[in-house]
Amino acid sequence: MHSRREFLKRASAAGVGALTVSAITPSLSPLAAGESRSVVIGSGNGLAAVAKAMEMIRDGADALDAVVAGVNIVEDDPNDMTVGYGGFPNEDGVVELDAAVMHGPTHRAGAVASLRNIKNPSKVAKVVMERSDHVLLVGEGALRFARVHGFKEEDLLTDKARAEWLKWKENLSTHDDWLPAHTPETKDIGSVYEAYVRSTGTIHCSARDLKGNISCVTTTSGLAYKIPGRVGDSPIIGAGLYCDNEVGSAGSTGRGEANLVNCSSVMIVEFMRQGKTPEQACLDACKRIVDHNVMRRLKKDDGRPDFNVSFYAMNKRGELGSAALYSGAMFTFHDGATAQRKECAYLFKR
Ligand code: ASP
Repeated sequence: MHSRREFLKRASAAGVGALTVSAITPSLSPLAAGESRSVVIGSGNGLAAVAKAMEMIRDGADALDAVVAGVNIVEDDPNDMTVGYGGFPNEDGVVELDAAVMHGPTHRAGAVASLRNIKNPSKVAKVVMERSDHVLLVGEGALRFARVHGFKEEDLLTDKARAEWLKWKENLSTHDDWLPAHTPETKDIGSVYEAYVRSTGTIHCSARDLKGNISCVTTTSGLAYKIPGRVGDSPIIGAGLYCDNEVGSAGSTGRGEANLVNCSSVMIVEFMRQGKTPEQACLDACKRIVDHNVMRRLKKDDGRPDFNVSFYAMNKRGELGSAALYSGAMFTFHDGATAQRKECAYLFKR
């Protein structure tokens, strides 16, 4: 096992310089040579998903069926406002969902973006993979495809998400016509959201099944209050997820634009192909994002990114790793014994 000190040494030798670099080795011990295992890894909100996926894998399910069933739990849950039903809407108050799946053994993928009215976009993405010659369908075309395959349409905007969206809209500016609740004495109505951070969130899940096959899924309602039609990294193969059955799998949550311009998930799989551990591969993708982040508006005063991105990876043998730009991010996994939630390794301490 590499010690934390050894990692710090290697990191500064690689030119990270004054940046604070930390690594937390997940409790999963590395495997002995020749050993492998079935595992599931997910984003911080994936505890129920990894448990469900492992239950199905134990019963002999294909890794893709298992991870899709896992994330469906979160898509159906109105209390997770970053995925599926009850997700944060776009700036017009309409929920638009993005999702993608990738199947390791056949190296196929399917995805949908800006899909309205269907609460399980990951299921639609899987049907795109299985029942069309395409990889990505968007907007109206994706909805029509879902309809003909029997998916039911429903209003995905819950009262709770609508209330949050209204609050955002009414407080955006003191100079527009949308007013939050106020009294006859209120003067500046609609205080500008000074340091307002729009919520992000997504679920990613990767698994290795009993046959040693690897698959993954990422599903999201995307950036809260996005411009209608905005598509993040989640449904983009290579950015929000990627797997190679002979190497491993990776996925991400966080600022999608950073993954779109860095092709982060395929980068992590390629780092693992070069022999890096999943955690090291995730940390190196974080460093690449930092190196490429040159726009001042996306930097804090100390020069570091003013956003976070988290990565989740597993290799062919079932070793896991996760890392984020900033401390405090969480990942989930099931190692065959229990479903657990742990802090991701990170580059910078908050
Ligand atoms: N990556 C997602 C997106 O950019 C959002 C997130 O994971 O927070 O749409």
